[in-house]
Amino acid sequence: MKSCFDESEAKVFVAKYSTLPKDLALRIYTSRLIGKDPDLVLHGGGNTSVKLRMKNIVGEEQDVLYVKGSGVDLATIGPDGFVGLDLNFLRKLRNLESLSDEEMENQLQIHKISALSPDPSVEALLHAFLPHKYVDHTHADSILVLTNQRYAEDLVREALGPRVAVLPYIMSGLPLAKEVVEQYERDTQVEAIVILNHGIFTFGDDTRTSYEGMISYVSKADIYIDKKIKGKTLMTPRKDLTPPKDFASSAARVAQAIRGTCAHRVSNEKLRRFYTVIRNIPDLVEASLSKEAKEICDSGVLTPDHVIWTKNRSVYIEGIPGNDDELRRIVMESVNHYKADYDQYFEVQVKAKEIKREKLDPYPRIFFIAGVGLVALGLTRKGARITADIAEHTIRTKVRTRGLGEYLPISDSHVFDIEYWSLQQKKLDRASPLPLQGQVAIITGAGGTIGYGIADRLLAAGAVVVISDIDEPRLEKVHSILASKYDKSQIESIVFDVTNYESVENAFREISLRLGGLDIVVPNAGIAYVAKIEDLDPKKFDELIAVNLKGTFNVIKASVSIFKRQGTGGNIVVISSKNVFDPGASFGAYSASKAGAHQIAKIAALELAELGVRVNMINPDAVFGDEEVSSKLWEIVGPERMKSRGLDPEGLREYYRQRNLLKARVLAEHVGNVVVFFASEQTPTTGATIPVDGGIPAAFPR
Ligand SMILES: [Zn+2]
Repeated sequence: MKSCFDESEAKVFVAKYSTLPKDLALRIYTSRLIGKDPDLVLHGGGNTSVKLRMKNIVGEEQDVLYVKGSGVDLATIGPDGFVGLDLNFLRKLRNLESLSDEEMENQLQIHKISALSPDPSVEALLHAFLPHKYVDHTHADSILVLTNQRYAEDLVREALGPRVAVLPYIMSGLPLAKEVVEQYERDTQVEAIVILNHGIFTFGDDTRTSYEGMISYVSKADIYIDKKIKGKTLMTPRKDLTPPKDFASSAARVAQAIRGTCAHRVSNEKLRRFYTVIRNIPDLVEASLSKEAKEICDSGVLTPDHVIWTKNRSVYIEGIPGNDDELRRIVMESVNHYKADYDQYFEVQVKAKEIKREKLDPYPRIFFIAGVGLVALGLTRKGARITADIAEHTIRTKVRTRGLGEYLPISDSHVFDIEYWSLQQKKLDRASPLPLQGQVAIITGAGGTIGYGIADRLLAAGAVVVISDIDEPRLEKVHSILASKYDKSQIESIVFDVTNYESVENAFREISLRLGGLDIVVPNAGIAYVAKIEDLDPKKFDELIAVNLKGTFNVIKASVSIFKRQGTGGNIVVISSKNVFDPGASFGAYSASKAGAHQIAKIAALELAELGVRVNMINPDAVFGDEEVSSKLWEIVGPERMKSRGLDPEGLREYYRQRNLLKARVLAEHVGNVVVFFASEQTPTTGATIPVDGGIPAAFPR
């Protein structure tokens, strides 16, 4: 690991933040240097600070500690990520014998110099008590390799030398802050302080010294470990385990089973579903096939800070059977076993500590699967990625610890203190209360108006939406419009051909690899053609049947096995047409193919009810596009209709508006609203059709 400090880049930061004190601008610069290295900190881990003297609003000089906000990511931190605190007051807290969590939080809050800044890091007092202008703190992997060992103290001293103090693990807060500063005062020659099972602090009177102290000590640890493990076999391969022959299929199936098994209800709330992230990097797969894999899962977190994302332990699965029932049984057994262990851990800890806590959900967040790698779970996509990143580093770090001795994790008691610490829980990426949070939707034909409108409404309702189309440029355009309105991580695109079953199956597998499965399926892809039967080219007829009818069938069929493996129900919403009930002349191929799709949807409603899957239809009429996203159907149908009625485009819209009972202009978002209605399961409804047409008596469902 090398220092990335660059004087000219530092000057760029000072210039960029010219309205801030120079020392704070430099703090932002080196904080980002630390944040961008995942071997030092991961997602919101670690923290940094700088002490400044500045004038307050009445012109008095004041000492201010700028420390990272709790949970803020160092990689992207800016001025808003730091919180200014009244340093002189915070230092007085050192005289207290003890300080409750609530009171520490209160004192930190009331001594902020700006009400709008974030909650201060839980390690703020430690930063305040140390006398140095700059303090840097990380949970570097290499430091944890040394500290999570039976003879950790000796190892740290041997690896890092005499200018490093080593302290036992103490929970963050006043006791740790006092211990660290006392340690420093006992020996002011120390350049770094290592806390066992937690991480390392470095400091200095300029930002470069503090940052480079961190890099230098982490590098020393790295070199020491590399020397120790050189030539050693760290993992023993298990001869009885082999990677699955078809990785994609096996990984997708196991992700679906895991996602379904871990979905759960908290009291009477709606079902909480997870998103998954799969990592199959070769070294992880190799570790998953070793004798030590189970121990890696059972042996606990590297540092208690990780527990809120990963829980303390992970699930190990030895293989993926080809049979789905067997697969579900194995996953279910593993999860039940995990839950029982978690419940016991909770009971033991609350009893031993004589406290009352509301138990968090007992579901695992990481599965380590022989030959596949890891599957991480999160209530949000961002959460799943954070969990996967931490899990990946944890596995690698645990493998390295094997070269030095015996991995010794922190006790359950310490882990519990952090897992159930109110200040820590605040960092969690809480699931939003939106109705479709946790769900995955797929919309075919999303390059057109209606598909776009549905995607827009589903995103607004909190689902992760996979938009698909066979027309890549149109799909990309819709993607970029949606990405400008919603969180990009909520949107995925995939190009496939609904007329080809294999193409659909591959796409659905890909979706499961990216997200863990599917909950809302919206067959919407459709094409139109205007011709009387007499003039209708049979080839054209076949084309419409292939997209509108067979395409709907293919999409429904491919979703069934996924719904089965998940076992959490689901929704299919077929975008049908007003023409099914009220066909028009010269529109035979369209009306007949849509009527077929409608009928297939009804059959699906009959067959899939036992899986808890509801199948409903929407009959829109006259949904025109706009300049942003045009309607493919109206590009084909419009000119002929305008010609026959002698209308311009606006006139045509008006004609259709006047034609319905409500004199309503029908919009794509209206169709989207009905999809959200069905998918949010507000009524026990399946096999139903809702018209979205402004009211056309001839098309009333019957
Ligand atoms: Zn820490």
